[in-house]
Amino acid sequence: MEAYYLETDLDKIKALAILRKEENEKFRRYLKNRNLHKTDALVHRINEEVAPRINCTTCGNCCKELSPYLNKEDLNNLAEATRKSIEEVIATYTEKDEEGVSFTHLPCTFLADNKCTIYQHRPQTCHSFPHLHNPGFTSRLRRVIDNYAICPIIFNVIERLKLEIGFQ
Ligand code: SF4
Ligand code: SF4
Repeated sequence: MEAYYLETDLDKIKALAILRKEENEKFRRYLKNRNLHKTDALVHRINEEVAPRINCTTCGNCCKELSPYLNKEDLNNLAEATRKSIEEVIATYTEKDEEGVSFTHLPCTFLADNKCTIYQHRPQTCHSFPHLHNPGFTSRLRRVIDNYAICPIIFNVIERLKLEIGFQ
């Protein structure tokens, strides 16, 4: 297959996300009624085409715009990476809301020159983001559409998905 054009300009993506807000909401409702497994298979294939062509180290936008929620293992790993106790990690880097514990600062404290300085110890959510290789795409649609404006991988996968399933 011929490589198709990918948009990676973050300002353009942000502007297009505003313009396409209504269209994306319509697309979300449309996908809800589509077969979950068929959609997953399509998203996984498109993600395999798109993700390797986008260089996260020239972007780093998720680390600037999103705070990952942290589990116990993440806190252990952060303690190891920073040589602090878990209590110090919690007090220094995190805050708590009704959904759980997340990093306090944006951009992330551990981001330097668009690179993660604790890469080997980064939280599981960071490792898995933008989660498009995971099953259950349709069940996570609201969050995926929210992140369409900030992540070029999500933006391009969604746009390709619209094209391939003939969404108008
Ligand atoms: S821990 Fe690393 S990968 Fe996760 S948000 Fe911070 S800089 Fe990004
Ligand atoms: S996952 Fe998305 S937002 Fe994060 S660095 Fe890669 S392209 Fe950018």
